[in-house]
Amino acid sequence: MSQQDDPTADDESSLDLPAGMFRTGDGDPENFFLAVWRPSTEGVRNTPAQFSEVDGMALFEGDIVLGPADEVRNGRGEGRGIGITGAQFRWKNGIVPCVIQAAVKDRAKAAIAHWERHTPFRFPKRTDQTDYISFEARDGCFSMVGRRGGKQVISLGTGCSVGSAVHEIGHALGLWHEQSREDRDQFVTIVRENIRPEAIHNFDKHVLDGDDLGDYDYASIMHYPRNAFSRNNKDTIVPSQQGVEIGQRNGLSRRDIASLKLIYPNLKWPAGDEAESAADEVAAPA
Ligand SMILES: [Zn+2]
Repeated sequence: MSQQDDPTADDESSLDLPAGMFRTGDGDPENFFLAVWRPSTEGVRNTPAQFSEVDGMALFEGDIVLGPADEVRNGRGEGRGIGITGAQFRWKNGIVPCVIQAAVKDRAKAAIAHWERHTPFRFPKRTDQTDYISFEARDGCFSMVGRRGGKQVISLGTGCSVGSAVHEIGHALGLWHEQSREDRDQFVTIVRENIRPEAIHNFDKHVLDGDDLGDYDYASIMHYPRNAFSRNNKDTIVPSQQGVEIGQRNGLSRRDIASLKLIYPNLKWPAGDEAESAADEVAAPA
């Protein structure tokens, strides 16, 4: 792709999340239950969580779309529950059919190329498949988590870099935010007084995919940046380990790839225990 055509390519902040990437609604956050499948116990656990309504969507942690707000509110099954994890939300054989709007073509294609270079996932043009991703230029960057059935949108709005697109595809394949892990308090400190009050719920801890995948990864492309939802430009999330960077959007980390390998064990992964980090690729000079 031509970096010149990418509106964010020469933006220094593309190393981090563009400020406009995360969104949160004007209204009060609403309660719902994440119905989480836990492989370790082979049972579903309902985890209380909150979403914001943005443009009719139930938005979770700033860029994860749970579904239409009304559907999430009314819930299917018990209470206001929504199930998002488990094998039924995987893309079969790692094949993810796609359509791409012209406005986001360069960024979507660059992000897809990154995924295809470093993982066995493939993103062919959709023909008649029922389940597929549509890359579109909507307001902000967002995605659903996992394969939800039917058409699902990945939005690459004006502020979304190629790295953001790699991150959103990560959600669509089944990854959550790294700092939402159950064990995160051992690795980061959340500075609540610096968070915009209406966005505090975005820093809740959740059980991700039933069980946390591998070791905590500061280098994950799925990690919030230090200033996510800051109300004063000060850090909202600080690594416990000195000198560590968080929130990179330059490419998949070694452990991002390893996490996907755990939830898609049957794909043809490159041999070797440790995948090679790809975390300097996207931001490489054009
Ligand atoms: Zn995200």
